Amino acid sequence: MYKAKAYAASSATSALASTTVARREPTATDVQIEILFCGICHSDLHQVRNEWKEVMPTVYPCVPGHEIVGRVTKVGPGVKKFKVGDLAAVGCMVDSDGTCPNCREGLEQYCPNLTLTYNFPDKHHAGPVTYGGYSDSVVVDQRFVLRVPSNLGLAGTAPLLCAGITTYSPLRHWGATKGKKVGIVGLGGLGHMGVKFSRALGAHTVVFTTSPSKVEDALRLGAHEVVISKNANDMQKHTGSFDFILDCVSADHDINAYINLLRRDGNLTLVGAPEKPLAVSSFGLIFGRKSLSGSAIGGIAETQEMLDFCGEHNITSDVEVIPIQKVNEAYDRLLKSDVKYRFSIDMASLKSE
Ligand SMILES: [Zn+2]
Ligand SMILES: [Zn+2]
Repeated sequence: MYKAKAYAASSATSALASTTVARREPTATDVQIEILFCGICHSDLHQVRNEWKEVMPTVYPCVPGHEIVGRVTKVGPGVKKFKVGDLAAVGCMVDSDGTCPNCREGLEQYCPNLTLTYNFPDKHHAGPVTYGGYSDSVVVDQRFVLRVPSNLGLAGTAPLLCAGITTYSPLRHWGATKGKKVGIVGLGGLGHMGVKFSRALGAHTVVFTTSPSKVEDALRLGAHEVVISKNANDMQKHTGSFDFILDCVSADHDINAYINLLRRDGNLTLVGAPEKPLAVSSFGLIFGRKSLSGSAIGGIAETQEMLDFCGEHNITSDVEVIPIQKVNEAYDRLLKSDVKYRFSIDMASLKSE
């Protein structure tokens, strides 16, 4: 075991502060990574403040962060995929049983014995739970370490590991491609990646937003059209025309208005997580055999596919880079959606702690 520098919350009400956590020495199949950038995901904030105590109570100290990119500093003797000096990335998960039907199909994200990157029981017992990427290093089994295309900016690459794959996976699953009409609802951390991917996959891409101030940005990010969702007339014009709609909104909203926009057999997938249950009109689904789904990140193979796709199409997240010392301020701003479109922590700033 060794001590890694980190930023952690010591309780649900305390600010994140500098500390050290124990990490394991790399085993035969492990990769040790010096973390260069870590994105800030809304989940980090929920977990730190123990807002998911019903399903995933937080164990303190809590080191969040599951949008990790860095450089390999050590590998175990059994590691074939990576060598010292390679770029590498880690997303929301660091282990799974590898044997269940989901794992066998490359859908590790749905494994019942999944280990998430932070606040999950640590199978290696370096600590009571896993510690995430707000840290100078991490040790992860090679199965859960991704290769990073060399042409991408690293600060903007970090958010691909959660916001990126969360939007890429359902777009691929539901066949967003040339000739298809795709809607992206909400233009935040998730939505802005959804627009970029939908456009790059060749679909006719329409962004729905409540803010007229976001129209210009949506077009810049790749939207062919932008609809102000509060304008009923503009919504009406798109009735029954969408093959697929990706709903990235985590606030309460009327999804029936979007189900109405789907064509026959169209699908609406939720990736945002509103706190209260959403009301769904069954008639909206029945007439037109439409479906409503959810989706969680993506498997390891698909995450690698997404990173390679980003390399080919030069796609990264739009980020505001901050030093780790500004993380608490960033959380306050995140609550006000005051970021375009993701914070990425420059982990070199942790060296001075
Ligand atoms: Zn996340
Ligand atoms: Zn499994």
